[in-house]
This record gives sequence, structure tokens and C-alpha cells, in this order.
Amino acid sequence: MTTDLAFDRDHLWHPYTSTSKPLPTFAVASAKGVRLTLEDGRELVDGMSSWWAAVHGYNHPVLNRAAKEQIDRMAHVMFGGLTHEPAVELGKKLVALTPDPLEKVFLADSGSVSVEVAIKMALQYWLSQGHSGKDKLLALRNGYHGDTFGAMAACDPVNGMHSLFSGVLAKHYFAEAPQCPYDSDFDTDDLNSIQQMLADHHQEIAAVILEPVVQGAGGMRMYHPTYLKAVRALCDQYGVLLIFDEIATGFGRTGKLFALEHADVCPDILCLGKAITGGYMTLAATLCTDQVAAGICDGEAGVLMHGPTFMGNPLACAVANASIQLLLDSGWQEKVVAIEAQLKAELLPLKDLPAVEDTRVLGAIGVMEMKEPVAMEQVQARFVEQGVWIRPFGKLVYIMPPFVIEPADLSKLTAAMLDLAEAT
Ligand SMILES: *Cc1c(COP(=O)(O)O)cnc(C)c1O
Repeated sequence: MTTDLAFDRDHLWHPYTSTSKPLPTFAVASAKGVRLTLEDGRELVDGMSSWWAAVHGYNHPVLNRAAKEQIDRMAHVMFGGLTHEPAVELGKKLVALTPDPLEKVFLADSGSVSVEVAIKMALQYWLSQGHSGKDKLLALRNGYHGDTFGAMAACDPVNGMHSLFSGVLAKHYFAEAPQCPYDSDFDTDDLNSIQQMLADHHQEIAAVILEPVVQGAGGMRMYHPTYLKAVRALCDQYGVLLIFDEIATGFGRTGKLFALEHADVCPDILCLGKAITGGYMTLAATLCTDQVAAGICDGEAGVLMHGPTFMGNPLACAVANASIQLLLDSGWQEKVVAIEAQLKAELLPLKDLPAVEDTRVLGAIGVMEMKEPVAMEQVQARFVEQGVWIRPFGKLVYIMPPFVIEPADLSKLTAAMLDLAEAT
């Protein structure tokens, strides 16, 4: 069987694409471990983990078994008034693995929805406390929180394309992104912008929302964990909730199980997604403290006003449970430490090449920022020719491979990045 690429081109939207000027797509026949097999027989070493998600690689026997066993019991039942073992087990795992104060779990169906739920929690919390004016967020420049309207309104106003939707998007406050690199000395100047914003507008601000330690799709930027400690203190000082979006960073990617552990800081609300099912199914979660939950439920509405059709999908929960257990049993931390060391050795020197602006590495994330935006179509084809799957955007050529990648395969990815940098 071969995929009808002409139909794909003429009828299917791909993420952020034009149907008038479609870019080529590559048909994948199967995937196993860190390899994607294209229908024409070519094999690509995967550098993307399908956007942070496939931490165990593809077609993993443990996850396959979990999915098959669950599907033979039930694929789905509604979560209104019903519950099931996969959801309860997942709740137990998430409550146990995240900081102690995070006790309540909302199972959402995608990262963006989990951000919508987090925003709704924050707004409802303050409404319930009788603070009707606290209906804005304070987000960071270069932040990314998803593509739905509530989440999009918290994304960087420039690369989140706010101007396009300015009539509809909620207007929030934005602080400058922290500049201090992860492993340098912390510079308190990084706090000036957010401190000023909170001092000026805290009466209108329901919550600060940010991606701890690594800003993902809004720039692949890594910053100093001390920033988070200071923001936690500022939020407490000014009576503002703190939302951490760990949809990209959660489940080991940065070298800690959750990026908040770099700073030992607990938010009031935490969003998880992407790697939660090891890349098998769409699932996400929004956790909050007992205080936030009680605050919401003591209010006039009396309930959290959210409940998607596929909430707590048993199949996704069963795979998530298997994936999290596999992660914990797999020695993930040593694997990520080894990937980080290799990425540092192979990518950091590329900083000196004339076409390269910067290279940076944290955990199993390697970034090469170019001076100019890369020609996506040509670069993508070139990578495929070289047997790697790396998908750049803008000036950023970056990899976050499955944790199971072998050193030789990781070197293939970094060699392709070097080759691009030298050819540019
Ligand atoms: C991917 C991502 C989202 C959105 O998740 P989706 O599953 O694509 O809706 C939100 N926040 C961050 C930090 C992300 O990386």
C-alpha cells in the first residue's frame, strides 16, 4: 500500500502549512526504535521524538501491549459519572511524581486544552474569591502555550501572531523573557521586567504562566532556574497564581523528571502533555493544589467549568501508565545525561561557524540557532537524503531525540547539523 501523496497535497492540512503552496511531505510506512521507515524504503534516524513525545522511541513492545490489553477491555467510556482503573492509576502516578502540593488532576485531551483548563482554573479561582478584576495573565516573551485561542493569547505576541487575531484574542501582559543562560551566574536584572509588571498590574493579574527553564516552540531558549524561584516569590508577594507549562519539558527531557526540579519550585497549577503517553496518543493533564481546587469549588459556580467528551480516555491513560512506568524503570536519567554530554561535545563547537549564531544544550535537547532563517524545503530534503529526520523552523535547527537513541545514531543527527552549518 502506498500513500496517495497527491490527495495529501490537495486535501490535507499539515501543521502550519499553505494549501496553495504545499511543502512536500514524506510518507512513513512504519517506525521502530529511533527509526522512521519511509514508503520508498529509506530509513531516517528520528531527531524530533515527534515533537517531544516519543521518549521511548516508536513501536515499543511494552506500550503496544498496554494499548492492546486496554482496547480489548474498553477503548473509551465517558468520564461524567463513570471512572476506571487507568485514569485512577494515572492520577496516582501524577500526584506521586509531582511536588506534594499538587493534589488535584484534570485529564485533558491535548496540551492546548490543558492550558485552557489551567487558565480557566486561575480565572475561576479569583472569581470565587470575589476578585472579579483579576482576569489577565502575565506571560513571557518567546513563550509558547498552544494554538487554541486562550492558549494562543498567552504566546509571544510577535511569533504567536497576535496581530492577525487582535480582535478576538484576550489581551494579556507580557514580560521580557529571561536572558541569563541556564549554566551562568544568575543576573537579577532578568527580574526587572516581570517585577515591574507585577508591581503595576497585580490587581488585574490572575496568574503568571511560563515554561520553566526551557522555552520551547517560541525560541528554544534555556534560562536560569533561579529566575523561577524569584518569580514564585513575586507571585506570593503580589497575590498572583503561578502556572507552569511543562508540556514540552515534562517526563525527563531536561535532565530532571520535571523542569521545576531544577529550581525546586512548586507552581499552583501545572500543565503536562506531549511525552505523557510516550508519543502514542493525545493526552494531557492539568494539576493544581488543594488550595486552588477548593478556591474554585467554594465559589458561586461550585464546579470547574470544563469537561471534554474524551476526558480521561482509558486507552490513552493505559498507555500513559505504561509509558511512565517504563520511563521510571528504564534508567532514563543516565540516558539523558549521556545524550546531554554527547550533544555538548558535538554541537557546542558549532557555535564558531560563521553561519551559526548560537548553539545550546540542556538534557536531551540540542539547538543550533542560525544567523538567517533556513530554507525549510531544501533543508528538509537534504536531511532526508542524509537519513535523518530533523525539522527546523525559522533560524532554529534543533533535536530532541528519543531517550533510547544510541551514540552512533545521535552522531548522525549532529553530523547532519554540522554539515548544514558548513554548507550555509
Ligand atoms: C506543544 C506545546 C503546547 C500545546 O500542546 P498541543 O498538544 O500541541 O496542543 C503547549 N505548551 C507547550 C510548552 C508546548 O510545547
